[in-house]
Amino acid sequence: MCRMKLPTRFLSLAAIVAGVALAQPKQPPIQPPTQALDEEYAKLVKEWTTSPQFMSPLVDHLPKAAGVPTTRDVLGYYVGQPKKLTKVADLGRYYRALAAASKRVKVLPVGTTDEGREQIVAVVADEETIANLDKYKGYLARLADPRGLSEQEAHNVIAQAKPIYMFIGGLHSAETGPPEMLMELAYRLAVEDSPLYDQIRKNVIVMMSAAAEPDGRDRYAEWYYKYKLAEENEQDRVPGPPYWGKYIFHDNNRDINYSQVTMQNWLKFYLQWHPPIMHDLHESQPLLYTFSGQSPQNPTLDPILYAELPWFSDFELTKMIGYGMPGVWTHAFVDMWSPGYLGFMSSNHNGMLRMYETMGNGGANTMRRTSSGGGGPPGPPQDPDSAAPAEPTAEAGRGGRGGGTVAGSGRGGSMTAREWYRPLPPPRNLEWSMRNNTNYMETGVLSALELTAAFSKTILENFYKKSRNAVESGSREAPYGYVLPAGQPAAQPAGQPAAPKDMTRVAFVVNVLRMQGIEVGEAKNEVKLKDVTYPAGSLIVKRNQPYGRLAKILLEKQNYPDPNLNTYDDTGWTMGLMSHADVQEIADKAILDVPVQPVDVLNITGAVKGEGPVYAVLHNGSNWLSTLRYRLKDVKFEAIDQAYKSGATDLPAGSFLFPASARAKSEIEKLGLQAVALPQAPDVKKHLVDIPRMAVFSTWGSTQDVGWVRYAFDHFELAYDLIYKERIRKGNLRGSYDVIVIPSQGRGGAKALIFDIESKGVPYAYTKSAIFPSLGAYGESEDITGGMGLPGVAELDKFVNEGGVLITLGASSFLPAEIGITRTVNAARTSAAFYAPGPIVECEITNPNHPIFYGYTQRVVPVRWAGGPLLTVPAGERRRTVLAQFPGQDKSVLSGLMRGVAETRNRPAIVDEPVGQGRVILFSTNPAYRWQNLGEFNMLANAILNFNDLPKAAAAAGPDQ
Ligand SMILES: [Zn+2]
Repeated sequence: MCRMKLPTRFLSLAAIVAGVALAQPKQPPIQPPTQALDEEYAKLVKEWTTSPQFMSPLVDHLPKAAGVPTTRDVLGYYVGQPKKLTKVADLGRYYRALAAASKRVKVLPVGTTDEGREQIVAVVADEETIANLDKYKGYLARLADPRGLSEQEAHNVIAQAKPIYMFIGGLHSAETGPPEMLMELAYRLAVEDSPLYDQIRKNVIVMMSAAAEPDGRDRYAEWYYKYKLAEENEQDRVPGPPYWGKYIFHDNNRDINYSQVTMQNWLKFYLQWHPPIMHDLHESQPLLYTFSGQSPQNPTLDPILYAELPWFSDFELTKMIGYGMPGVWTHAFVDMWSPGYLGFMSSNHNGMLRMYETMGNGGANTMRRTSSGGGGPPGPPQDPDSAAPAEPTAEAGRGGRGGGTVAGSGRGGSMTAREWYRPLPPPRNLEWSMRNNTNYMETGVLSALELTAAFSKTILENFYKKSRNAVESGSREAPYGYVLPAGQPAAQPAGQPAAPKDMTRVAFVVNVLRMQGIEVGEAKNEVKLKDVTYPAGSLIVKRNQPYGRLAKILLEKQNYPDPNLNTYDDTGWTMGLMSHADVQEIADKAILDVPVQPVDVLNITGAVKGEGPVYAVLHNGSNWLSTLRYRLKDVKFEAIDQAYKSGATDLPAGSFLFPASARAKSEIEKLGLQAVALPQAPDVKKHLVDIPRMAVFSTWGSTQDVGWVRYAFDHFELAYDLIYKERIRKGNLRGSYDVIVIPSQGRGGAKALIFDIESKGVPYAYTKSAIFPSLGAYGESEDITGGMGLPGVAELDKFVNEGGVLITLGASSFLPAEIGITRTVNAARTSAAFYAPGPIVECEITNPNHPIFYGYTQRVVPVRWAGGPLLTVPAGERRRTVLAQFPGQDKSVLSGLMRGVAETRNRPAIVDEPVGQGRVILFSTNPAYRWQNLGEFNMLANAILNFNDLPKAAAAAGPDQ
């Protein structure tokens, strides 16, 4: 590596930095590098940049360094070359070549995706730091958990430590620029010789993801090369690929419980390295939006965080506007309420989430664009940050994209208006290129690194203080902890039989907390607090731990700070309510002194009590009951129609009966289920539990919410075919299927579900080929446009009339109501004033004997408001077909925000209407939402497993024999 002699002034600066522990170094001046420059690069990027105002002095040049390869040396092109997108293997190839050539770069493995692609991180710092990375990792780990560290010791650690500044790029696959830009950033940070770069390398450890969602990166790049190379303006936009990752699209940024393996890998990496700053690079706004943590803010997070965020964003504005770059703004888009965004893993763990939205073109073409709200990448059928809202109810909260002017995340308005938070607005019409986008992002992140390098000790001090404050706040402020009592559910409604235990839902909560690094302990003895005693074996989360604040955020009821504020995503996520696990908030400080055994992973082992030839598996609401049915698919299962007392054991309605076997015993134990062995099958009314031939229908244009249902079905091992319009149109659905599930999709109502991606006469084939091996995954189509059309609707109608069970979830429940497959059910929309981004509300079970409610012991249960249709059923029919309804009282909003709750009053939540030989079950809820509301999932599983034993009319006493 070619290294020039450092300027004397910098050497003295370095001496100050090294010598005085907490003194802040002075900010070095921006100077041109002291080395030879790559003239070809300068010429090309100038050509690719559509106007000089979109360039900065930080990125208009690239230094040469003998032996250290640029992307052109390895891949054949510089970053920002029109019509070039780099696939995952090539990203890895470049970073590895760079690391092989430079002692300032190292590549770290992160994990492997669903489809077997590698996730990697490149690290750039000075030689000493790279050679001693583990030492610096140790310092950050010490600051992340400062328990037992005196203030003086903490200062000594800070004096030696360096902050990690980690970039995440390419989480959203249509947002194509960040993975390209980060390659150039890595090279520049490794080779450029100037005071600024020397200081960054010395004081900061820079990390960058290659592509945060590698499966989606490759699939999107292939689709781009196949269909998007001809795009020249916004009107040319073609549909995007039907999939990014295996299951989900942009919800990889909403996977609050880390269900997806790729996201789990990032979290594990984070918890090993503890980056105090994590910066997530997105594309949806003109020209660069830098997040500053506006309201509504989660008050549980440390106030220091809310001071740090605008500190950074204002510095970036200062620098970039200083360079004359228009369209850089802050203080508007996205708020600090939901903890579910991927980058939030840092704020949640006492670090700092940072976020950009730049203007991407959804590929690498140079295009004519308009600076309007939602200047995001064109094309994908699903909505990335910029496009249609995830749910109709959330729309008002996303005004920042659509030009809304509501407070909170809605600011932004006209993108070209000069505002206090946007002093130099962008031009309205512009030609925009991948290189422009790269220039903006790279100039922004270099400014952020400039600030971090100049104030690295402040960053570290704050990281330490946030961690320390988290521990202290848990020993100072109620709630002091949470208890998940053993033997759940504990409380019984009067007159009901004792409910059987289902600790698997407790295990779900505990294991998500554990994955998040939150300490959970098991009480070996009874827990006696002031007013209450919990049994031995109860799980305890104490708040006086580094991630105690996160535990509170996840477990508490979301008390939305201001009902007039809109928000960007969900307002409620309370884990106990979502999973129907009993989680008790503890205001008694004595909880902190309860002796506990640390839990690593909570495994619930099931049990079969007694001896006998017949097993009765208690229906206790566990989602693993359906797994058992599918694992023993060749065994004849029966379910009892009503609760039954067998000796000392209460068998709830829906409990399974089947012949005893060693294999069954082993599965019951593995799945954490409760069973008794009986001398003979009880003499009680029962029905066969048949496994249906099941299909899950997906449009091509809206696969994401389908993906969440697929994920849940795969997790619990329910068998199904994933079908598309092609299969629907072929007809004879009843010949192939007993049950068709239509997950929530088609947000515009029935029409969107039927006609899907509008055909413009050009077919878009989603098929696998030698050049495009990532396409055609999870289904193939010769043309993804057009939808099932009216002939498809007729086939669905026929399927039901011929005896099929059609189950519609959430927004898909508009379909049977609007097109008349169900004659008595109508579907309406909430008013414009109604606003309910995912709160948790009460749902009243009005027909508790219906098999859908096997395992539910309470008459009123928490459900997530899914933004589905407001269903109506004529008064005379309600008793017959309505299974559950929304009470719709003010007190019915259990967590999060619902503005206009009265609109939901007494609206059916679930309707089961027999039609012809079959039936339609309409959920206006969504019982498989983002791997969160697992307490509702059993309603769907029960409907599936009892598909041919549902009552002819719900009010009738027994099931259909
Ligand atoms: Zn995004």
